[in-house]
Amino acid sequence: MYRGRIAPTPSGLLHLGHAKTFWTAHQRAREQNGTLFYRNEDLDPDRCKQDFTNAAMKDLQWLGISWDGDLVQQSSRLPLYQDAFEKLCAGGHLFPCDCSRRDIREAATAPHAEDGDPIYPGTCREKNTSTLFSQDSTKINWRFRVPQGEVIEFTDNAQGVRHYKAGTDFGDFPVWQKNGIPAYQLAVVVDDAEMEITEVVRGEDLLLSTARQLLLYRALNLEPPQFYHCPLITDENGERLAKRHKALSLRALRQNGRRPNEILA
Ligand code: GLU
Repeated sequence: MYRGRIAPTPSGLLHLGHAKTFWTAHQRAREQNGTLFYRNEDLDPDRCKQDFTNAAMKDLQWLGISWDGDLVQQSSRLPLYQDAFEKLCAGGHLFPCDCSRRDIREAATAPHAEDGDPIYPGTCREKNTSTLFSQDSTKINWRFRVPQGEVIEFTDNAQGVRHYKAGTDFGDFPVWQKNGIPAYQLAVVVDDAEMEITEVVRGEDLLLSTARQLLLYRALNLEPPQFYHCPLITDENGERLAKRHKALSLRALRQNGRRPNEILA
């Protein structure tokens, strides 16, 4: 039985790119008589606002996207993430890291991954971290130790076989933040597994994250879903749509009299 999800982050208004991805997720679930869940990825209290959650739900409904069951709110699922975090810690997969983004950016050899994330230079990987351990472990940044040199291969249902090399295409990545909140990679894996999602449909900007997430599935002994990564929509300069493209937000298009069928076309 097909189980899909749409998983917007309520940190701004949805734009045409989201509409395309979520419409694809909706179509794939409906074509297979499956179930589609709505997961509100509202973990970051500084960026996420209730108004954006309300706007996203309204705009998606206006487009003709429907979902099943109750809204799944990440902010009310912290114990699940904490449990997974403890398992990863116990399995020796994590290390505490007090490098700032700036430290990492400035590390002499830090190249960038395809998705723009600087590749972690390994600063705290082998450090003596006993001083960090004297604090509450959920108030520290933790990273996942990737198996350097291992090739992670998966078959994407839209893009075919993809492979990425750990340590070269992406580095040790954050799974827990010192504000007591899990990082995106961990929360998504825990949720997709717990919600028994069979296919994850999302934008192709997250292909590299899929490689990271497959390492988490393995470390947590969870079965990964299938993946379907949609091409992104770009503006006339070839730049991917972002919150700054205000005129292409669903809200603005709708206020300017556009109809759902025009948007979907
Ligand atoms: N919440 C993420 C976003 O809005 C999507 C996460 C996912 O689909 O895995 O970009």
